[in-house]
Amino acid sequence: MNPFFETYDTIFGTIPFTKINIKHYVPAVTKGIEEAKAEVDALVSNADAPTFTNTIGALEDSGETLTKVTSAFFNLNSAETNDEMQAIAQEISPLLTAHGNEVAMNAGLFAKVKAIFEGDQSNLTTEQKTLLEKSYKGFARNGANLNEADKEKLKAIDTKKAQLSLTFGENVLKESNAFQMHLTNEADLDGLPDGIKEAAAGMAKAKELEGWLITLDYPSYIPFMTYSTRRDLRQKMHRAFGSKGFQDNENNNEDVIQELVSLRAERAALLGYQSHAHYVLEERMAKSPSIVFDFLNNIQEKALPFAKKEFEELSAYAKKLDGIDQLQKWDSGYYSEKLKKEKFAIDDELLRPYFQLERVVAGVFKAAKKLFGITFHQHTDIDLYHGDVQTYEVKDENGKHLAVFYADFFPRAGKRQGAWMTSFRSQKRIEDTDQRPHVSIVCNFTKPTETKPSLLTFNEVTTLFHEFGHALHGMLAKGTYASLSGTSVYWDFVELPSQLMENWCYEKDCLDLFAKHYETGENIPAEYIDKIKKSSNFMAGMGTIRQVGLGKIDMGWHSINSKGQIPNSKTAHLSSKPVQSEVELNVIDLSVKAFETKQLEGLDFYPEVKETMTSTSFSHIFQGGYSSGYYSYKWAEVLDADAFEAFLEKGIFDRETAKSFQENILSAGGTEHPSVLYKRFRGRDAKSDALLKRAGLV
Ligand SMILES: [Zn+2]
Repeated sequence: MNPFFETYDTIFGTIPFTKINIKHYVPAVTKGIEEAKAEVDALVSNADAPTFTNTIGALEDSGETLTKVTSAFFNLNSAETNDEMQAIAQEISPLLTAHGNEVAMNAGLFAKVKAIFEGDQSNLTTEQKTLLEKSYKGFARNGANLNEADKEKLKAIDTKKAQLSLTFGENVLKESNAFQMHLTNEADLDGLPDGIKEAAAGMAKAKELEGWLITLDYPSYIPFMTYSTRRDLRQKMHRAFGSKGFQDNENNNEDVIQELVSLRAERAALLGYQSHAHYVLEERMAKSPSIVFDFLNNIQEKALPFAKKEFEELSAYAKKLDGIDQLQKWDSGYYSEKLKKEKFAIDDELLRPYFQLERVVAGVFKAAKKLFGITFHQHTDIDLYHGDVQTYEVKDENGKHLAVFYADFFPRAGKRQGAWMTSFRSQKRIEDTDQRPHVSIVCNFTKPTETKPSLLTFNEVTTLFHEFGHALHGMLAKGTYASLSGTSVYWDFVELPSQLMENWCYEKDCLDLFAKHYETGENIPAEYIDKIKKSSNFMAGMGTIRQVGLGKIDMGWHSINSKGQIPNSKTAHLSSKPVQSEVELNVIDLSVKAFETKQLEGLDFYPEVKETMTSTSFSHIFQGGYSSGYYSYKWAEVLDADAFEAFLEKGIFDRETAKSFQENILSAGGTEHPSVLYKRFRGRDAKSDALLKRAGLV
């Protein structure tokens, strides 16, 4: 029996993971597509005049089986994948893209949507108007106005594009898993804290090796780069990390990038946009590439003098300490940490004992209760896809069921790097019933060892608060339609709740809820909190410039038009060459590395390392959906700093302010334009002053 064909007979209707077998996915996707097709056909052939309910509403309700199987599959393909899952992803992705295109290019359906969109909307709610516009634009932006030949071309581009994105991500994962630094001499671990050594020994043991293993996973890589006194080994690790997808092997991503960027440009041109970035930004708070470049340049201008000063300070420090004449990229983490420690006498290892994972989780729950009145109740009878996962029922202030919350904290071979929030089930209204969401956060935190519980770095603590902020957006959703619910908002608005939550990690009143020594139970000392605050702005200039750089790499790649030109740019025109491809295409012919270097002009203070680059493992923009969107982290920082100021004015746990944020932002999801929602919360537009002030860049 295929569980995707049944109503889930489980607690809260959660996904019955243990009943799902690898062989269930493809038949469920196939049948799901057939069902969705039949539903669309039925609404298109409906002889009644098109209305919001019989068209937009019916479309919103269609494809139930498909939603079920894809929300299970793609979440697991990120959190618990293997070769078989990846093969299935390669198999079903083209099917899904083809299906999506078929709906998007259904002329009969588009005619109905267009008629409603251009007709009288006065009887529609605001939410319905937003959904209608989104639906109409969805069609237009997917080629509904194209002729038949161009529609076919678009279809071919999208299929190829989806395959390439998957390949990109798989190459990065393969490269990560292929590398490990095996150390057998304890002297090679000089400088590493005991916990890190222990973890490295544990990893070696798991692979039945003597000694220690250092890998490219963040919890292994970052501490090594921060603490190892062995400059030669740091260099080796840096090169391995930075050369992912840029080596002379079958996992190389340079051609993938060239083809992907060309396909995106070609697609945008077909739809009448100057570039992929123009296309993407049409549906963003930051409407156009020029606004984004202005935004980035403005921040760059403010941060650059600070960054230069910081780099000089760091160089002088390394010179004084170890006689280093030229600071290299693999020195940055190491000397920064040392200098930070000297200035603030604080480091990750000093703080870790106060951040035991279980206490931090309990702390974020307490903070959520103080702010929004919600409570978390651990459940042990919800079906899991992996034994590490923990589940909770979330209740509102009246004790009413609000959501199911999954937390998956530790790294595994089949888990993608980084941390993210996702949903197994979206919130929406089904007639009179409010279907509550099933939300998950997936992280790669420091694992417990044989002698120590999971003790987080402060960065991991803020990551947890960050993902929890996204989760709140999902759990507190109060919409009618899944497409506008929770985190279904414009991309440059989606990081507001997550980045806002990070602010509480720096406040004594919040830290006192959970930051207690895991052995003695004593509160984190006040002087540490003061130092955390001060040190959070340490190297803020360089950090800002790094973010601006990533934003520019992204905007650079995606501002290229289909002729290989960047409109309004001083960058020389790029040449293009026709290639043999499933899609007839001029592939932009350029050195990926040279292009990236050009985007970073004036932003990189370190000597170039020729065997490394960012683009070939920049999964955000080439695998995930952040293309032309990386700037949105900074954009959201402007929003979050400005929003947090509202809490600082009234008190960080002020219920009224929290209530306003909940009602106007978290529960509202994408039901209205973000600038309208934000103004309703703050009483005015966001200003960048709070961010610059917070970062010490004024
Ligand atoms: Zn985020």
